[in-house]
Amino acid sequence: MSTNYFPYCVDCQSGHPIASDRLDDECRALVRASPALAAFADAWADLSTYGYPVMTLGRDRDYIHPEWFKAHAGHHLVVRNEYGDNDDECGKRYQCHGCKHPHELRCRRHSGHDGDHAEGRDDGRP
Ligand SMILES: [Zn+2]
Ligand SMILES: [Zn+2]
Ligand SMILES: [Zn+2]
Repeated sequence: MSTNYFPYCVDCQSGHPIASDRLDDECRALVRASPALAAFADAWADLSTYGYPVMTLGRDRDYIHPEWFKAHAGHHLVVRNEYGDNDDECGKRYQCHGCKHPHELRCRRHSGHDGDHAEGRDDGRP
């Protein structure tokens, strides 16, 4: 059983399409490279129109889309998994006692936060 990860913009709730078997560290490398990829996007598109072989950045299903990084330049990018968990969140499981039958919740506050775990992000983003 593996978990699938992808770069994700919290501001726009938009995910970057990437091969489904990428690991979280591998997607973090993409997020780290995002300023360079965003800056590259216009030149990449320009060169493509003149037939330079830059259409495929990456291989097979593993294409990198510089235009996605340009569209989300300066936004809050994280690595997200297929269950909707972002890697900038605490992620601790805790018991909800607000309901008749206690059940488990996942904390979405920022990692390393003070105080109680909670279901909402500290920055108020959805
Ligand atoms: Zn965005
Ligand atoms: Zn509850
Ligand atoms: Zn927490």
